[in-house]
Amino acid sequence: MEKWREDKMKCSFCGNKIEPGKGKMFVLKSGTVKYFCSSKCEKNWKLGRNPKKVKWTQTFRKEKQ
Ligand SMILES: [Zn+2]
Repeated sequence: MEKWREDKMKCSFCGNKIEPGKGKMFVLKSGTVKYFCSSKCEKNWKLGRNPKKVKWTQTFRKEKQ
């Protein structure tokens, strides 16, 4: 199994780091791979939410700074 790179280990929604072996991988038809730290993030992403507008994400916090 290919070792996950550091840049791949971030949740595609909230930006939190994902522990090896944890989280979920989602492959789009286009071939793009998304990683989610939790089903919460996966759900929000599937709903089409913008992580920049969701308070509990790292992305939101970064935008604010
Ligand atoms: Zn997440």
